[in-house]
Amino acid sequence: MSATATDTKYVYSFGGGKADGDTTMKNLLGGKGANLAEMSNIGLPVPAGFTITTELCTYYYDHDRSYPPELKDQVDSAMRQIEEVMGAKFGDSENPLLLSCRSGARESMPGMMDTILNLGLNDETVQALAKSSGNEAFAYDSYRRLIQMYGEVVMGMKPQAKEDPDYFEDILEKKKHEFGVEFDSQLTAENLKEVVAQFKAKVKEVTGKDFPTDPNEQVWGAISAVFGSWMNDRAMVYRREYGIPHEWGTATNVQAMVFGNLGDDCATGVGLTRDCAIGEPGFNGDYLINAQGEDVVAGIRAPKRIEETLAQDMPEAYEHLDKIGKTLERHYKEVQDIEFTVQKGQVWMLQTRNAKRTGFAAVKIAVDLVNEGLITPEEALQPKRVPADGLNQLLQPLFDPSAKKQASEDGHLLTKAINAGPGAATGQIVFHASDAEEEYEKDKNVQMILVRRETSPEDLRGMRLAKGILTAFGGASSHAALVSRQMGKTCIVGASELDIDYHAGTVTVGDKVLKAGDWISIDGFTGEVFEGKVDTSASEIIEVLINKTKKPEDAPIYQRYSQLMEWVDKHRTLNVRANTEADEAEKSAAFGAEGVGLCRTEHMFFSRLDDMREMILATDQATREAAVMKLLPHQKEDFTKLFEAMAGKPVTIRLLDPPLHEFLSHHHLEEDPDLAHKLADMTGKSKEDIHRRVEELAESNPMLGFRGCRLGIVYPEITAMQARAIFEAACELKKSGTEVLPEVMIPLAGFAAEFKNQAKIVRETAAKVFEEQGIEIPYLVGTMIEIPRAALTADEIAQDAEFFSFGTNDLTQTTLGMSRDDYGPFITKYREADIVPNDPFQTVDQSGVGKLMKIGIEGGRGVKSDLKIGICGEHGGDPNSVMFCHRAGLNYVSCSPFRIPIAKLAAAQVALLAD
Ligand code: PEP
Ligand code: MG
Repeated sequence: MSATATDTKYVYSFGGGKADGDTTMKNLLGGKGANLAEMSNIGLPVPAGFTITTELCTYYYDHDRSYPPELKDQVDSAMRQIEEVMGAKFGDSENPLLLSCRSGARESMPGMMDTILNLGLNDETVQALAKSSGNEAFAYDSYRRLIQMYGEVVMGMKPQAKEDPDYFEDILEKKKHEFGVEFDSQLTAENLKEVVAQFKAKVKEVTGKDFPTDPNEQVWGAISAVFGSWMNDRAMVYRREYGIPHEWGTATNVQAMVFGNLGDDCATGVGLTRDCAIGEPGFNGDYLINAQGEDVVAGIRAPKRIEETLAQDMPEAYEHLDKIGKTLERHYKEVQDIEFTVQKGQVWMLQTRNAKRTGFAAVKIAVDLVNEGLITPEEALQPKRVPADGLNQLLQPLFDPSAKKQASEDGHLLTKAINAGPGAATGQIVFHASDAEEEYEKDKNVQMILVRRETSPEDLRGMRLAKGILTAFGGASSHAALVSRQMGKTCIVGASELDIDYHAGTVTVGDKVLKAGDWISIDGFTGEVFEGKVDTSASEIIEVLINKTKKPEDAPIYQRYSQLMEWVDKHRTLNVRANTEADEAEKSAAFGAEGVGLCRTEHMFFSRLDDMREMILATDQATREAAVMKLLPHQKEDFTKLFEAMAGKPVTIRLLDPPLHEFLSHHHLEEDPDLAHKLADMTGKSKEDIHRRVEELAESNPMLGFRGCRLGIVYPEITAMQARAIFEAACELKKSGTEVLPEVMIPLAGFAAEFKNQAKIVRETAAKVFEEQGIEIPYLVGTMIEIPRAALTADEIAQDAEFFSFGTNDLTQTTLGMSRDDYGPFITKYREADIVPNDPFQTVDQSGVGKLMKIGIEGGRGVKSDLKIGICGEHGGDPNSVMFCHRAGLNYVSCSPFRIPIAKLAAAQVALLAD
């Protein structure tokens, strides 16, 4: 069948200085395909090839894993084009062209999908390759690699679990032992012929089928395997982790092979145009002389460092690569992660993509690129350059310098290797990802360091659970380094002094033997590995902003951070407040909080438990009032501190919210056998009375029980006392010249009448206090919108309320009917089954809870067009939710102090996106 004008184009060619596609076509060609095309277009040396589109992947899955009829002709014609450019013929018995087949989705998913190299080899073409390359060992080594990859990927012989047989590696190891060699590269052509024969026999034995000798069958088998790998378990896990939709599909790239393993004038490597762990400039990475690309990433042989030795080993190739790196950075205006091969002195580019980096490096790189004139500040703020959540890493603790020095002096420094992910991590050794999962099941707070020879995609889940990752092999672009960089995990790779024995469960360094469960500490900035625990200390930003132990001029990381935050403040329109109490208020202000969005007053009550319990046990109003009033001076003291720290900024104080049994329950009485006696003494009641009252307070569903404004309605004296404490503190400060802007917030209202009831008490108390103090201050009384009824009747509530704040913790709980304290056991399964796209208690469930929020906003602003509306649930510090809040028209988000920079960055990002 020949192509017609109406056929969909599924195949895009590249190479020979031109291409059908370009870098803007990532959605269709995947990142790898689009960038191979782009590199061809700008004249860089790219082996010819073609990309089969992501659309074809969608077709493949929609049509029961089959292809459209026009595909075959399109592939055939693209194959002819490769042959023409490369001057070799696929399956030819004189000058055979070999092909690779690799996946390439829109977003890179390192190591998650399959790759097959050396397609086109069989018993006949291998001899031609031996002749044309003049290197028989190379030809048979290529052949055995093909059989191994093909067997594993296409014919299903890959070990899936640690106890599964590793057929090919086992044969290879045995053969190396038999021939008395250490490395694969030392095997002779004759040795390799035996390996090939055994590999083929193994394929037949395990699968019942022969290894296919027809090159075309090989290519189609490989293409199907690559498309098939889009739906493998680890790729699905990865996509869930990074929010990549399953519908996107992958592209497949079929490309002429070039060889880095033809001799000592050949090499293969992966490099970064600047360091992506901490952001230092300079071409760096790993390479291996006389090796194939996969050897570098797999970490089988310890690679050499580009920045250390490549310029001496291959001066011309180094110069060419450095120049290509600079061209690519200027072209893409972004740090590039490249793969290359040097074949007999000639440089070939196999891949370029925007480099993944730690949150730490992201800030430095983005600010540096602006300062170098490559990008604008607005571009520096793009989420793909500095993901808001990544800022977190800048605030992470580091090892305390004196504790580290001590550890070194005590001889605890075990080794030093490549720093691949910043931060300081201390934990107990685990050797297998599955062990990490088991330990985590037993104890969710377990601190672990995953110690491995190298990591592979199978280790992903365990890597996520560990505090840090340490590998014996691999370099800055190994799987462990890439993945940990993306996860923001502390990571050290290539610690070649470690001798890891998985069977014995030990790691030996010099004369020290450590076992699983022993503590180690790793410094992801310096690559140092210590035995035992090392204390941590604050990051540079915390030192400057909070502890004030460092001056900004001595803190280069802080300087870049503050430069970035200046740009952020220029662009965001959403205000960011803190969820904080008196003790943390100063810290919040230092992080740049523009007020307090939520002060949970109950925490103050917990520190005055005796008075609180006296109030709870009171049976008449007069006694209760007397007990409540004992709390007043303490509340007032706390509010004073809070107002002072936030002088001139709005401070939202929420009235008492939790059920009373959180202050006094059976649990408390059981824990402290003297408590009942003590309370009886204090109140003049009998111990039985105490127990009876405690019995009355118990609830079977406390989150939906006697809490929030229900408390203040039944015990108005509590509301009155809290209001008095707020206004007395405010008036006194105002008199001493401090500006105060209190906003009193009523919790858990669902009926307008509930709000009115409580607002009346607050306003009456305010009027009384103003009269007593002879001064008036502006204030607002508003409500939380945290149960669906409040959102649905927001128009009624807004008649009297002066502001709204979405309490999305409770709003999520009550909308989803999912207890915020009990959803843990099933939410992971829900995520895995794609029932929910995120944890709804972290990221606003936009189509459910978000819809209610929109109804609430519309209802409120329908009555008061300028009604101030914010959010104070945990979601206020989650970048996605912040973006949603901006779009929904909120005035502010409020979050925990450490998330303020993150929320601010997300707010600027969404504002820029909307422009
Ligand atoms: C909320 O429900 O979102 C909220 C902020 O209140 P709390 O978490 O104290 O219930
Ligand atoms: Mg709440």
